[in-house]
Amino acid sequence: MSASENLEICNLCNGKGLDLDDIAFPDTCPKCGGSGKVDWVEQIVGSPQQHKYNEWVDAASAALAKSIDREILNQLIESVRIPNGVLKGK
Ligand SMILES: [Zn+2]
Repeated sequence: MSASENLEICNLCNGKGLDLDDIAFPDTCPKCGGSGKVDWVEQIVGSPQQHKYNEWVDAASAALAKSIDREILNQLIESVRIPNGVLKGK
């Protein structure tokens, strides 16, 4: 029995090897790395590259949330016109 016989169709991309439409980056499936197939252990617990991808998504979403918070705060500051000096302290 060869190793390829133990591979299953990746259930994240359905064997296409491409990323899901709603994930912009990267272009290959983060679970199977573009091969469309994974072994049964990876099918259940995810592959090492998928864990790396998930870590990247977590970090990127945290950074995005932070930048959006900053943008919203800046808009709030702009909208209420907090006088100069108030936020800077003395
Ligand atoms: Zn896949």
